Amino acid sequence: MKQILLTFSFFWVILAFSQELKSPSEFLGYKLGTEFTPHYRVEDYYQHVANSRPEQVQLQTYGQTYEGRPLLLAYLSTAANMNNLEQIRKEHLKSLEGNSEAEKAIVWLSYNVHGNESVSTEASMQTIYELLTSKSSYLDNTIVIMDPAINPDGRDRYVNWYKQYRNRPNQVDPNSVEHHEGWWSGRSNHYMFDLNRDWAWLTQVESQQRLKKYNQWLPHIHVDFHEQGVNEPYYFAPAAEPYHEVITDFQRDFQETIGKNHARYFDANGWFYFTKEVFDLLYPSYGDTYPTYNGAIGMTYEQGGSGRAGLGVITREGDTLTLQDRIAHHLTTGLSTVEVASKNAGVLNESFEKYYRDRSYKYNSYVLSGNRDQLDALADLLDQHQIKYGAGTGTNISGYNYRQQKNGSSKADASSMVISTDQTKGNLVKVLFEPNAKLSDSLTYDITAWSLPYAYGLETVASEKLVPSAVYKKQDTGGNSLDKATYAYVSDWNSMKDARFLASLLQQGIKVRYAQKPFRMEGKSFERGSLIITRADNANQPDFIKRLGNTARQFSKELVAVSTGFVDSGKDFGSSSVELILPPKVAVLGGEPTSTLRFGEVWHFFEQQLEYPLTVLHADYWNRVNLDEYDVLVLPDGRGYKSLLDDKLRERLSSWVSQGGNLIVMGNAISALSDTPEFSVKARKMEGDSTGNSVKPYGEGEREYIKNAITGAIFKTKVDPTHPLAYGYGDTYYTLKLGNDRFEFLDGGTVVYMEDETKPIAGFAGSQAQKNRENTLIFGVQEKGRGNMIYLADNPLFRGFWENGKLFFANALFMVN
Ligand SMILES: [Zn+2]
Repeated sequence: MKQILLTFSFFWVILAFSQELKSPSEFLGYKLGTEFTPHYRVEDYYQHVANSRPEQVQLQTYGQTYEGRPLLLAYLSTAANMNNLEQIRKEHLKSLEGNSEAEKAIVWLSYNVHGNESVSTEASMQTIYELLTSKSSYLDNTIVIMDPAINPDGRDRYVNWYKQYRNRPNQVDPNSVEHHEGWWSGRSNHYMFDLNRDWAWLTQVESQQRLKKYNQWLPHIHVDFHEQGVNEPYYFAPAAEPYHEVITDFQRDFQETIGKNHARYFDANGWFYFTKEVFDLLYPSYGDTYPTYNGAIGMTYEQGGSGRAGLGVITREGDTLTLQDRIAHHLTTGLSTVEVASKNAGVLNESFEKYYRDRSYKYNSYVLSGNRDQLDALADLLDQHQIKYGAGTGTNISGYNYRQQKNGSSKADASSMVISTDQTKGNLVKVLFEPNAKLSDSLTYDITAWSLPYAYGLETVASEKLVPSAVYKKQDTGGNSLDKATYAYVSDWNSMKDARFLASLLQQGIKVRYAQKPFRMEGKSFERGSLIITRADNANQPDFIKRLGNTARQFSKELVAVSTGFVDSGKDFGSSSVELILPPKVAVLGGEPTSTLRFGEVWHFFEQQLEYPLTVLHADYWNRVNLDEYDVLVLPDGRGYKSLLDDKLRERLSSWVSQGGNLIVMGNAISALSDTPEFSVKARKMEGDSTGNSVKPYGEGEREYIKNAITGAIFKTKVDPTHPLAYGYGDTYYTLKLGNDRFEFLDGGTVVYMEDETKPIAGFAGSQAQKNRENTLIFGVQEKGRGNMIYLADNPLFRGFWENGKLFFANALFMVN
């Protein structure tokens, strides 16, 4: 019997691998677009396609999401091309060196980066089916790479939610709950990060794993499929201004070629669309710009719909927009893109090679120096982008000095890092490192400054000459050998690496002190915030030295052994200025009115960067939680705090702080506490609009608005490095300013602040927005009873990429008490 069963299942397997290719509707058992398809079924369909056309389709799992869902890529072409796939890839990559004979077009289609823009994945299934059947001729000279869902966690969050809340049959009345996704929307990934802002910063596992594959292929064309508001007509290329100046004429023109082909199909069907508006090509971390800066025609396509649309919804114009309509539109542009690629394979290959060959730059090398941990953290990011870097060789250099904002000279010594544009990723180097991106238009969709030297807080000189370099070696001390008999070990404190090291020690129960004053002993100097791990504090810890040694090794930390607690200058280890760090129990507020993205940044910071436990309290029940169980409470940025923080809650928070709590208040949450009886932080009173009664042309409304806007610009601010919130910092901090709020200096505890220099050093800030900004607070601490109010007016955790801001947050947890 057993034998028969085995034989039977063997035949079944053979059968499974030779099945007839079914359409998504046939395979899924419902007409595509009449239900949402969960990710495991999407995976099943792609598997079915690969099984039934094994000679034409390769399916690859390239990774996993935070929630454990597989990330998939399907490679498809003709059987002959697929047989040669690796050779085709290698020949294509020779274009980077200018000696390629490649003939095939490479098209990469990415779907559903925003989870609740859920049509995309559905459309992808019909698209792969059509490419293998009715449109198979496109594949003769084209390789198509399809990612059915960049963000399956977010997409399933939406799909599951919709299935639970929907009417049966679905209700097209936009007031019904199925059109009102809640706070925990499916747009972002598990940690509420927007994956379409993460291509350059790679803070999320989805982006990190995808980029490895992307770099293996560097396609000619990359499309990122999206959805926008329900009432919007379809958007496709060409994109709106501003365009980054590295974008070539060919890249501009070819967007037009593609757009015109789409328009042909849309016109024939009588569908509405728009081009050249709203969606620009500047901020480098999108699914259109990042590929563009790697030589591709990178494009965003936007269907009207997203989380509001469900299976069908009545639009403002009274039409019913259905999921089937939305699928038809994304299917059309997807196929049309491959069609254009296939017709233009020759010119795509030529131009791609040209993109990598014909380049000239004002600056040819960037020389960065400063904190070694920050340099190494930057090196880790560059490795992922396959950007090459080296160490200085002692040459004298001159060029633009980022800190002084003028030309100067210095030396590229061995401890500095040299990054040059003389490499295949040269354009990406320029985009990420240049002091200030040129703006062809100030009306942009996103931040206007991101220059990595500021984000990493490194001294930088941009040189017009190519600076020679040697091999850069990251610090890897392997940890030094530790001795049980040593009186104490000391660690420096000036980077996230140090914060992670401390977080790990605290969770192991190892006792750590920190110095509030600089000290000098045994011929060495130590700064404020230095960690002191004594034998005496840890006398009862089993395997103390072994665990300390292992942890130091894990974080490549060189610990300094000292044989005494008696210092030559500063405070002895037994002084009250050398305090024990008690591991804080931390909670963060989530739910309305916090912003999902801003909440997610805090959540991700704790669990994935600092690796320190965090309790998430949602606003709908947090007032019933005993806050005395927590040492630190974080209120992330969000809109609508004023109604949440009524008199009663403010009083409660106020007394919790007075009894010893540390309240970290971020962004707009500060506004809700400012000018209240319990808290003394004050918003700056603004003078009236100085433009007075002059007539403003109606047609320039957007331009008027922009005068008051700061669209993500970098400002140079001052730091009081003697304050615990600023331990590990120097006297300057480059802040990424995203909004227009201004707060007055605190009565003591103004730690990071803007004095009279209120012009951004990079990026755009409107003329009105720059006014009245003198002497405003960026970060500060106000003692209150036995606790502290910690105000973070700017966001050091924004999108997880402002590396040099993160230590402020760690200081707020461990050093401020
Ligand atoms: Zn989107």
